[in-house]
Order: sequence, then C-alpha cells, then structure tokens
Amino acid sequence: MKTKVLVLLLITLATLQAAETDSAQSLGAIRIAKFKGDRAAAVSMTLDDGLRNQDDFAVPLLNQYGIRATFYVIPGLTPDTNEEATKKKPGDHGGISWHRLKELAAEGHEIANHTWTHIPLTKIQDGQRIDLEPAKMDEQIGKAYEAIKERIGIAPFTFATPGNGTSDVVRAAGHKYHPVIREHCERFGAWPPTSKDFTAAQANTTVDRYLKKGEVLVWMMHAVTEGYNALSGPDVLEDHLIYLRSKQDELWIDTFAQVCRYTMERDAAKLTASTSAGHAEFTLECSLDPAVFHDPLTVVIPANHPTDVLVRYQKSGEKPPFEIHSDKILVQVIPSGQPLEVTWQSVPQ
Ligand SMILES: [Zn+2]
Repeated sequence: MKTKVLVLLLITLATLQAAETDSAQSLGAIRIAKFKGDRAAAVSMTLDDGLRNQDDFAVPLLNQYGIRATFYVIPGLTPDTNEEATKKKPGDHGGISWHRLKELAAEGHEIANHTWTHIPLTKIQDGQRIDLEPAKMDEQIGKAYEAIKERIGIAPFTFATPGNGTSDVVRAAGHKYHPVIREHCERFGAWPPTSKDFTAAQANTTVDRYLKKGEVLVWMMHAVTEGYNALSGPDVLEDHLIYLRSKQDELWIDTFAQVCRYTMERDAAKLTASTSAGHAEFTLECSLDPAVFHDPLTVVIPANHPTDVLVRYQKSGEKPPFEIHSDKILVQVIPSGQPLEVTWQSVPQ
C-alpha cells in the first residue's frame, strides 16, 4: 500500500516537474524558422553561362555531395543535342545542351534565366546610364524565360543579368517574368581574368561569416578548369562542398529558387498560436499566391526533451512531416490556414 502511494506521488511530482520545465519557456516561443529546418543560414551555388566545363567538372561533384545548384543559362546560345554542344569549347557560352539541362532539372538543379544571348542590358556611357531599348530588353529576358519554361517544363523563378549589370529599368523588366533577380552574390573565385589563386579555405571563411550573420550566401561561379574565371582545379570546389556538407546541421544548402521561395513565403506568413505545457495549437497562413508559393515552412515549437510527440491537422487528422530535437519540435507546414495540434511529454532533466 505504501509503495503504491509512493509511486503515485512520484508520478505526480514528475508530471508537475515536466509542466514546470516547459512552462518556464526559457526555450522561447513558437515561431517560424528563419530558414528551412531552423538552420542558422542558407547557401546557394549558382553557376553562370551554361559552360560545358561546369557539366564536366562541377555537376559530378554537386551530385556526389547531394547539393542542388542553380544554372543560369543562355537559351539563344543553347544547342539541342549533346553532340552539338561538344563542338563548342569547354568554356564557351551555352555549352550544355537542352537535352542535358533537362536531365539536370530532373536531378533537382534549378535551370534559370541569364538572358537570350548575354548582351549587356545596361551600361554607363560618358557618365550616363543607358538601358537597352524596351523591345530588345523584353526580348532578351522574355524570350529566354519562355524557352526555359517550354524546354524544361518549369518556369524560371530567378533571373541573373549578364555581368550583374542592373538599373531600375532592368529590374522592372526582369520582374515582369521573375519573382527574383539575383543581385547580391559572392564570387566563387577572384576577379577575372583568373581565379587560380582562389582557395577552398577562402570560400569556407565566407561561409563562416554568413553563418555568423544568419544570412543567405549566394555563390556565383563560372568555369571550373577552363574558361572564364576558371579555378585552379575541381578540388577547390570539392573541398568547399565537403565543408558545406560538414555544416549541414546549421546551414541550409539549396537552389537559389528554393531559398528565395522560402524566405519570401516566410516574410509573408502569419503564425497564430496558443501553447501550454506539452500542447500547442497553431495555424499558418500566407498572403502570397498559393499557385506559386506552396512550399512548407518550418514551425519551431520549443520543448524540453520531448517524447510521445503527436502532430496532426485538427480537421483531417493528417500528419505533416516533423522532427524531434532535444529542445524543440520542428514541423513542416504548408501555409494553408488549416489548424494543427501538437502534443508531447517532456522528460524532466
Ligand atoms: Zn554571364
């Protein structure tokens, strides 16, 4: 009899302690993660000009390390077949065929717009800014957009201008077709003509800087071994990819389109939540067009060593994907306004 009472008492104490541990909320409030998986920063590898040299040396490494990248291609210079592509020099613009680009897209890489023929869209002449005339500007951007959409089957989400030249006129012309224009990026290499001295250690330091800042790092690279701004060799890229992988718990590595989709959706999303010990209810809504923005956002529910975790949509009973960490539960939620419920037990520490 005495033992039973003692056991009951212990259970009650444990429950109270668990409730206290969670309600203390030193862990913070329920929130939308800044980046997917509640990682501290994000990185996108972007490779410009559709060089065959990239397909020969960068693509095998990206695939080996499971890193999806963004390829800014030039549709007006892109041949149909691999046979035609191999007639070009390794560093020539448009050296990856449509056939091959389709394969890259199927592997999860982003095929994005870098204009129809890579002519400057804007320049400074005699101290004056001169933008390409509107019809030509629209042709350079729109024709390339349509070609990628038709050939790859996915409308390009992002756009990079030749030489990163931009102006308000260029921005307006680009945004007519693309939600995002790549403007701020770091050169994976040095300034031209050569990047032979650029090292993986330099690249890794840049990643550390972005991790500290909690921001999106966008790498822009060109040739790997031969062609514009070539590196000293593929090992520079490989060593950096190994470093990225080693940081994957804190670093989200994905295509530029994926990262932008997340951050735009995140910024337009509204989380409404009520929480108590071992229990959370919330809804996630987003004001952007759901036809374009329908990727899951990560909702972070602070919880102390949670066990017996249950996550479900209250109406349908369906379970969204979730992860359990020692100090939080991460739920992947497509913002749809559908209420969700999460319950868990906290083990007293
Ligand atoms: Zn370019």
